[in-house]
Amino acid sequence: MSQPATAYEVVIGLEVHAQVATASKMFCPCPATYAGAAPNTHVCPICLGMPGVLPVMNRDAVEKTLLFALALGCTIPHDSKFDRKNYPYPDLMKGYQISQYDMPFSVNGHLDVDLPDGTVKRVGVTRVHLEEDTAMLRHESGAGGERYSVVDVNRAGSPLMEIVSEPDMRSPEEARRYLEMLREILRYTGVSRANMEEGNFRCDANISLRRFGAPQYGTKVEIKNMNSFRSVQMALEYEVRRQSEMLDRGEQITQETRGWLEAERRTVSQRSKEQAHDYRYFPEPDLPPVRPAAAWIEQLRVTVPELPQTKRHRFVEQYGLSAYDANLLSTPRARAEFFEQTIAIAGAARAKQVSNWLLGDIARLQNAHGQEFEHITIAPAQVAELIDLVERRVLNSTTAKAVLERIYTSGGSPTAAASDLGLVSAPAAGLDALLATVIAANPRAVTDFRGGKANAVQALVGAVMRETRGTADAAQVRELLLEKLARD
Ligand SMILES: [Zn+2]
Repeated sequence: MSQPATAYEVVIGLEVHAQVATASKMFCPCPATYAGAAPNTHVCPICLGMPGVLPVMNRDAVEKTLLFALALGCTIPHDSKFDRKNYPYPDLMKGYQISQYDMPFSVNGHLDVDLPDGTVKRVGVTRVHLEEDTAMLRHESGAGGERYSVVDVNRAGSPLMEIVSEPDMRSPEEARRYLEMLREILRYTGVSRANMEEGNFRCDANISLRRFGAPQYGTKVEIKNMNSFRSVQMALEYEVRRQSEMLDRGEQITQETRGWLEAERRTVSQRSKEQAHDYRYFPEPDLPPVRPAAAWIEQLRVTVPELPQTKRHRFVEQYGLSAYDANLLSTPRARAEFFEQTIAIAGAARAKQVSNWLLGDIARLQNAHGQEFEHITIAPAQVAELIDLVERRVLNSTTAKAVLERIYTSGGSPTAAASDLGLVSAPAAGLDALLATVIAANPRAVTDFRGGKANAVQALVGAVMRETRGTADAAQVRELLLEKLARD
């Protein structure tokens, strides 16, 4: 990744918003699964912000937030509470957002980021807290060209986790890698779908530059409106160039919020950054403080799954896989689990074969069927059986692929599918008779071979393969022919 040469140290911190995957919204019973629904169909007086209604906390959202915080090694304080963050904006139905200000659910975590050069960078996580999402505005034009906006309240009140990092990242690439690994953990823990394109995983970036060795941070700029990992990296790279050029000219950086214009590949000033006191935070009077019991926290702690990074290292050590294969196998979680379930049946000695099937033909079929791994139509026992059939030379690499395709679409056991497809190779006894026939029918090749032309045996192998319609194992046939020719 090309880094612009600069005399400045780049300092980046990220704020990520991830929607928590719950059945209902944060403070009302409306279904939180509104994707694709007609506008304003998942609403009630609470999320519409009607006067006189009372919010009720969604336990599942709190629990998932705590689980995720524990996965990041956060401390869970004994006391936490919700606050009102006041600001007037048309997407905020109540005129305030229920969020967490000075007593969040968790603090002081970290994420160990694997960098492409093989090193690991620890990025501090300041806090993970919970709040409610806002409604969505759509800006449209009328027939006469007049501009207007419409509001869809379906998203309002969905549980939203905010994950704030320390300003520990030192390049746009580190920031991108942090985001990728954060998303992996969100998905592994089942806490969020974490899909940037669907809008349930969003990122704002803070970036400042300072001369190397300077004791204080430079003035930071916040960047918004990035809707892919790639655009986060590009926006940050753009800002590194823009800010270093300004500093080179002796200009001051303005503290502000800038928007990323994807089509133009640049950031533009949106507004000067609000200070915290602009929001006039105060404790939410309609919700009790939250004091998670120690026993509850411990219960959650043991349900934190083995994280992808740990799994990757274990796959390399335990099964002798390459770092590259271990990396691919570790996500999504369903594939990592499929891998180990298959090994539980086939044995650890076959880890490489299991990995090859999963990353090769099974991945190809999965793509061809447009399936997520969670929904693939094949089971570990089938893959283990397929590997066994290949190992016992009942199937060769070509016929095994055909069997895989059959069981992938029609189910059933590989043995039955092989026999249905007429792909079971000739039994050893039948094969022996066939070899004798082929040797008798090809005296010229036999003479050539005995006369020292070692390659002549290939003609005989070819003849056997034709007779068995490709079901025999060519390597085995060659071996048996060599034995037979030496003996007879
Ligand atoms: Zn509602």
